Amino acid sequence: MLKRLLFIRGAELIALAILATIPLTVSNTYVLGLLTLLAIYGILLIGLDVTVGYLGQVNLAHAAFLGLGAYAAGLSVSLLGFGMLGALAVSMAIGLILGGLLAFPALRLEGPQFALATLSFSALSTTVLNEWEGLTMGAQGLSITRPELFGFSLKAQGFYWLCLVLLVLVWLAMRNLLSSQWGRAFEALRDSPIATDAMGVGTYRHKVAGFAFGSSLGGLAGGLYAFNFQYLQPQSFTYDLMVILLLGVVLGGRKSLWGAFFGATLIVLLPNLLSNRLLFEIISGLGLLLAIFAGAQGLKNKTTQPFQAIAPVIAMGMLVVGGYMVENTENWRKAIFALMLFSVVVGLPDGVMGFTARYLTRLFRIAPPDLPPASALDEVLPAQQADSKPMLELKNLKRYFGGVKAVDGISMTVRTGHIHGLIGPNGSGKSTAVNVISGLYAPTSGDILLQGKSLPKGSLFKVARTGVSRTFQNLQLFGELSALDNVMLALKGVYRSPLPLVLLGFARAEEKRAQADALALLELVGLQHMARVHARDLTYGSQRFLEIARALACKPKLLILDEPAAGLAHPDVNVLVDIIKRIHQRGVTIILIEHHMDVVSTLCDVVTVLDGGLVIAEGTTEEVKRNPLVIKAYLGIADDTDVPDVIPAVI
Ligand code: ADP
Ligand code: MG
Repeated sequence: MLKRLLFIRGAELIALAILATIPLTVSNTYVLGLLTLLAIYGILLIGLDVTVGYLGQVNLAHAAFLGLGAYAAGLSVSLLGFGMLGALAVSMAIGLILGGLLAFPALRLEGPQFALATLSFSALSTTVLNEWEGLTMGAQGLSITRPELFGFSLKAQGFYWLCLVLLVLVWLAMRNLLSSQWGRAFEALRDSPIATDAMGVGTYRHKVAGFAFGSSLGGLAGGLYAFNFQYLQPQSFTYDLMVILLLGVVLGGRKSLWGAFFGATLIVLLPNLLSNRLLFEIISGLGLLLAIFAGAQGLKNKTTQPFQAIAPVIAMGMLVVGGYMVENTENWRKAIFALMLFSVVVGLPDGVMGFTARYLTRLFRIAPPDLPPASALDEVLPAQQADSKPMLELKNLKRYFGGVKAVDGISMTVRTGHIHGLIGPNGSGKSTAVNVISGLYAPTSGDILLQGKSLPKGSLFKVARTGVSRTFQNLQLFGELSALDNVMLALKGVYRSPLPLVLLGFARAEEKRAQADALALLELVGLQHMARVHARDLTYGSQRFLEIARALACKPKLLILDEPAAGLAHPDVNVLVDIIKRIHQRGVTIILIEHHMDVVSTLCDVVTVLDGGLVIAEGTTEEVKRNPLVIKAYLGIADDTDVPDVIPAVI
């Protein structure tokens, strides 16, 4: 714990101390200019990393937000007479508002379409900056005077320190945000948007908020950019810059503050240093080493074909040698940048800093921080009182897919506190029924009542909020998150701090509480020792159990388990039966879709049998097992032939 604190915070403090004291020892304006740019680009890339790294979206609008923020700051000084802080607040607000407005429609789109939407936005904003000459002076450029800060006029050095202070504040706020429920939600929605919604977290709103927040940092960086150069032209904020920014984030390492900072360093230093011959040789030599190292890593981890590993090494080698032979290497820097990027993408998928961080963590054996003791299960999942009222009623529920009548008029009632079995041959409509109840699909017609009230239709998120929680026939875990984080993401009723308090770091207490509660649920399914393991690294059985623990974190009245035993080995099936019994004891009503008849008969109070989207029988396990219609549905035996006494254990 102490080692972790010293190491991580220590590295941050040392970097900060170095950055803060350089201007005291080196009084070179060129160096000071580079450092200022480094701080500004640091803020810019941390903002870009929110969308590109955490939300996993290709965002091509960030350079535009830099430009819009810059012009907003400049104009609010020249037209409105704002001071430094006021102008920077305006740039941030512009980023936040325009970012939100762009995100609302654009984030309904996926993948390449989203990238195109952001690209159009940046084309549009450059056009506006160019054409609105009355305000921006168009292509002629806009001159700006640096405003005062609290009545002091800032010289180059003072302005650098201001940029550095803002970088530190952004860094701290971002760290608080990412280690809160927000950070988890960002990562979860990238792994499985469906499960994020089904856990009641709301994919869309988190995406929009994340995008707007990242863009506001772009705006802030823009304000600083304006006061640094004191001269703006629209063409500084076009695609060229955007591509470089993306390269910086990927090279440095996505999903990492250090990665963004390292990326900013590369962007700022490389073009400047590469124009000097000696430095060109040193840097291209380092680039060559990077290419060799990344290639070797890629081959070792088998993520790379030999050709992919060797090609950038050869190309970079040619640049190093070629650098001696030609007069001017100034135009080669893009090639060097491109080759470095290629090597990193191929061999170090987590970027340079991502790799370094993992390596150092292992080298110094830095353990993750200790977990608090688990909460009492009674607090996390209070026992629910059984009563005789129905928990769930389906009334003539239908769902068609084109001509396929997957669910064709199901009516059934699930009593409070029961384990209600839902069985039927493959393709009989069980999963579709669950998908309609949980809001993944809207029903074609019919009604769904939870405790007598209509359930929202066609929205996983809204249904989850009413107290219905589910697992998926095909696992939908957040693979990149730890088992603990998977459960913490879904925890209901713990996270109360509004965003500003989270950014200021006041959400730590509720974070500890959430950890303790999530541990209690992991304990319930026997996974407390796996809390820190990534979900994707768990055994298949453990993944199934984890999904149940996560569903319980929503504190459901009704829990729907879609074939939880599918693919489980026999001992794991027994564990599963135990887990379901324990959940039942807490009074949670359960719908269980299951193929193992012995599991069904051990657990279920009532069983409904579906075939062809219709209910063909209902009753206790013994009753339905003897029902001729059921036997016919499963075994295809005509009504009048001999009926086997018991359906085979596994159907
Ligand atoms: P079960 O879970 O009982 O095995 P499903 O509910 O998955 O059955 O499927 C019922 C029927 O609906 C099947 O014929 C299946 O092919 C069809 N179906 C399910 N989901 C879709 C979908 N998204 N689009 C088209 N057809 C679907
Ligand atoms: Mg199914």
